[in-house]
Amino acid sequence: MTAGMKFGFEVLHKDVRTGARRGVLHTAHGDVPTPVFMPVGTAGAVKAMPNGFLEALEARIILGNTYHLYLRPGHERIERLGGLHSFMAWNGAILTDSGGYQVFSHRELRSISEEGVAFRSHLDGSRNFFTPEKVVDIQCALGSDVAMVLDDCTAYPAGHIDAEASMELSARWAKKCRDHWRKQDDGRRALFGIVQGSVYPDLRKRSAEALNQLDFTGMAIGGLSVGEPKDVMYEIVECTAPLLPWDRPRYLMGVGTPEDLVRAVAMGIDMFDCVLPTRNARNGCLFTSQGKILIKNAVYAEDPGPLDPNCACPTCRRYSRAYLRHLFLSGEHLSAVYNTLHNLTFYLDMMQKIRHSIELDFFGNWLEQMEKGLS
Ligand SMILES: [Zn+2]
Repeated sequence: MTAGMKFGFEVLHKDVRTGARRGVLHTAHGDVPTPVFMPVGTAGAVKAMPNGFLEALEARIILGNTYHLYLRPGHERIERLGGLHSFMAWNGAILTDSGGYQVFSHRELRSISEEGVAFRSHLDGSRNFFTPEKVVDIQCALGSDVAMVLDDCTAYPAGHIDAEASMELSARWAKKCRDHWRKQDDGRRALFGIVQGSVYPDLRKRSAEALNQLDFTGMAIGGLSVGEPKDVMYEIVECTAPLLPWDRPRYLMGVGTPEDLVRAVAMGIDMFDCVLPTRNARNGCLFTSQGKILIKNAVYAEDPGPLDPNCACPTCRRYSRAYLRHLFLSGEHLSAVYNTLHNLTFYLDMMQKIRHSIELDFFGNWLEQMEKGLS
């Protein structure tokens, strides 16, 4: 434990051929090597993954969703139980989102005003209201190592005028969050700003400039992977990342596929989260060194081989494709456990290889090989 430690970020090495950075986040719950993929632990649990499995995978940071934890069991109850780390018995770092994205995804249940966002609980229909100040208070009660500002995640597609208004609202909310945060900030935790602006480079630039003035500890790129074409997403990340402070961590929210991660690392992104490896695992879609596998397919019915011969995870070391297919088709709970264990191993191993290749100035070559392999 490194309790009492100030939050910090260091770029340890910059790749020679790309924008990739090898760095480290210093948190009160340990150091996190970057670039990092953060498994999503929506409601205080990474679905189908006991904490011990995450520790064995050397996951150093996971994500929790403010929206879900606020509704159930409630941030005040979690605070009374010692905060989210204590409540879920997780000693690593935790990043919580602000709830803006979840409210955004339940669009029919919400309405936005200058003051904040009103929404109905997807659980019981109860009325709730998030203000910028309130989401800071909720995340402080949870005790997250990294908190995020409340933002208005612009829907796709959005016209320039709507995207501009949404981006400006997010910027005003970001300032309110920052001002409120400073009243209780002891330097042990971080608040990140979120760049919005939809698919418009000029709006992204203005958003980044406005947020840079607020001097956040880290910066995120939000509002992507919401339905826009891939090439547009890459274009926006490529033009936004260089606008973010060099000495602060850069977090691309809600992205993405293995290929997305590799490409975004090359553009200078340090942090990622996505439900893809965990959700796909539960749906029987598995990432392997030979591409994606749908384990339900009949071709695996009598396949005695491992899921991925190049993977050292407990699932691949022990079980056959035929057995994993049987578990999935039978609806056995262990199907989700074994599949998730594999998919998260695939993601975290890939990030480890990325970090190693940046250290060796080999990332550019590795990127080319990956692109060949993934395409
Ligand atoms: Zn595996």
